[in-house]
Amino acid sequence: MKNRHLLTTALTAAITAALVSGPTVVSADGHLRVVDKPLTLNVHLHDKKFTYDNDWPVEKAAAAMTGVSLNNVTVGNTPDSNEAFNLMIASGDLPDIVGGKHMKHNVNRYGPEGAFLPLDDLIKEHAPNIYAQMQARPGVFNSVRAGDGNLYFVPYLTDGKYGRAYFIREDWLAKLDLKQPDSVDDLYKVLTAFRNEDPNGNGKKDEIPAFFRNWEEVLRLVTFWDGRSSGSDTYHDFHIADGKIKHGYAGEGYKVGIKNMAKWYKEGLIDPEVFTRGSSAREFLLSNDLGGFTHDWFASTAGYNTSLADKVPGFSLQAMIPPKSISGVRMEEHRRIPIKPEGWAISYSNKHPVETIKYMDFWWTEEGRRLANFGVEGEQYTMVDGKAIFTDAVLGSDRPLNSQLTDIGAQVRRGFWQDYNYEIQWTNEHALKGIALYDSGDYLIDQFLGVAFNEKEQAVYDKHWVSIQTYMLEKQQAWVLGSADVEAEWDDYMKELNKLGFSKVLEAMQSAYDRQYG
Ligand code: CA
Repeated sequence: MKNRHLLTTALTAAITAALVSGPTVVSADGHLRVVDKPLTLNVHLHDKKFTYDNDWPVEKAAAAMTGVSLNNVTVGNTPDSNEAFNLMIASGDLPDIVGGKHMKHNVNRYGPEGAFLPLDDLIKEHAPNIYAQMQARPGVFNSVRAGDGNLYFVPYLTDGKYGRAYFIREDWLAKLDLKQPDSVDDLYKVLTAFRNEDPNGNGKKDEIPAFFRNWEEVLRLVTFWDGRSSGSDTYHDFHIADGKIKHGYAGEGYKVGIKNMAKWYKEGLIDPEVFTRGSSAREFLLSNDLGGFTHDWFASTAGYNTSLADKVPGFSLQAMIPPKSISGVRMEEHRRIPIKPEGWAISYSNKHPVETIKYMDFWWTEEGRRLANFGVEGEQYTMVDGKAIFTDAVLGSDRPLNSQLTDIGAQVRRGFWQDYNYEIQWTNEHALKGIALYDSGDYLIDQFLGVAFNEKEQAVYDKHWVSIQTYMLEKQQAWVLGSADVEAEWDDYMKELNKLGFSKVLEAMQSAYDRQYG
C-alpha cells in the first residue's frame, strides 16, 4: 500500500508539473518543438507487461516539449508482443507508429512489402540526432536493416558494455591459502581444492566448485581451451572470425574444451546437476555456502555480498578476470548487445512522416534522451553537476527501479538511446569494482549482430538449422555427462553435421553477411 500511495502521489505531481511547466518550457525555448499546432499520432506499442499509456508522465512531458502527443491504440489483449503484432497486421489498420518488441523480425518482414516506410532519407533530412549515431556506428545500425537493405525502424540503442563475468569465492581462496586462478590450469587446481578441502568448513564434502544459473553458461568454459560457445548474447549463436561466419560447435577448440569439461564433470568440479538444477542454482548454492565459482551478471551476482553478509559469515564472491586459455588468451565471451531488435516504425498510412521522424528524433536529443532514461526532472531525478541523479525516494523505494521507470513511461521500448548512467546509480560497489577490473583489460570481443536473409537464404536456414542445432546440443550434453566420448565421435559428428546441411547454412549466412556488412 505504501508504494501504491507513493506512486499515485508521484504520478499526480508529475502530471501537474508537466501541465504547468509544459507551456513555460516551450515559450522559454522552443527548440524541441516539432509542430506549431498540436498533433496527435496513434501508436501501437506492445511489451510483455504493458502497452503504451496516454497518461504516462513521460508522454505528457514529451508532448509539452514537442507538441506531438501519442494516442494508444495497441491491439491485442495478450502478453505476447508477436501475437499482438500479428493481430494488428491482420486487422489491416495500421496506426501511425508501430513499436515495442520484435520490431526487427516483424517490421523487416512487412516493411519490404510496403507496410512500413523506409527511414534512411527521412532520418538524413530531418533527424540529425539519430543520423549522428548512424554515422558513428554504421555496423550496429546495419545489423537491424531488412533484407532489401532499408532501415524500417528507429531502434533501441543500448549503452554499457559489460554483462556477465567470472566470479569466485575470495573467502574460500583465503581459507585454503590459494591465489586467484590466473590460467585454466590454476583454475583446475583451485576447483579441485574447493572440492576436496572443505572450504565451507562443515566437515562434509558437499561443495559444488563450479555452478551455473543458466546451464548454457557452463559452455563458456570451452573458451579456456580456445573454443567458442556463442558469438552474441544469444546462446549457441554463430560468430565471426576474420570476416567468416563460423559456428563454435564445429571448432577444434570446442572439441578440446568439451573433452576437458567432461573430465572436470567426472571429477566433480562442475555441478553434477548443471543441466537440470535450473534458475535457482545461484540463490540456493550461494545462500547454503556450497558454490565456489560461476559466470553470471555483474550486478545481481555481486549483490550476494550484501544480501548474504549476515547469513554466511565472511562471504565474499568477487569478479575475477578471465583466466588465461591454453594459448594465453583471456576472453570474456559475453557482453551486452549494442542494439536491440526493438524500437518503433512509421506505417505506410501515416500522413505526417516528417513530423513523426522529427518527433522520433526528439528522443535522441539531450533532453529527450534524459526523459526516456530517467523520467521527469524534479520527480524521478534532479540535475546535479550537469548529471541526472535519481532522487532518494526513487533509489530507496522497495519497488525495483526499472519497474518504477516503466510505470511512468521511461525505459520503455520506443526507439531511444539508453544512457548507462541510469543503471550505474543502483549498481552496488562490488559490481562497480568488478566492472572497473574488466575495464582495465581488453577481454571483450566483437559480437555477431545477426544477418537479414533474402528469401533463398531464409529457405536454406529454415530447412536445415533447427535439426542441426538439436543434434549439436544432444551430442554436447552426452559428451559433457560422459555418456559418449567426444574424441571418439568427433569425425562422425562432423560428417553428420554436413549431412544435415551445415555447410549450406554457413554459405547462406555468409552471403547474407557479406551483403549486409561487406
Ligand atoms: Ca564442506
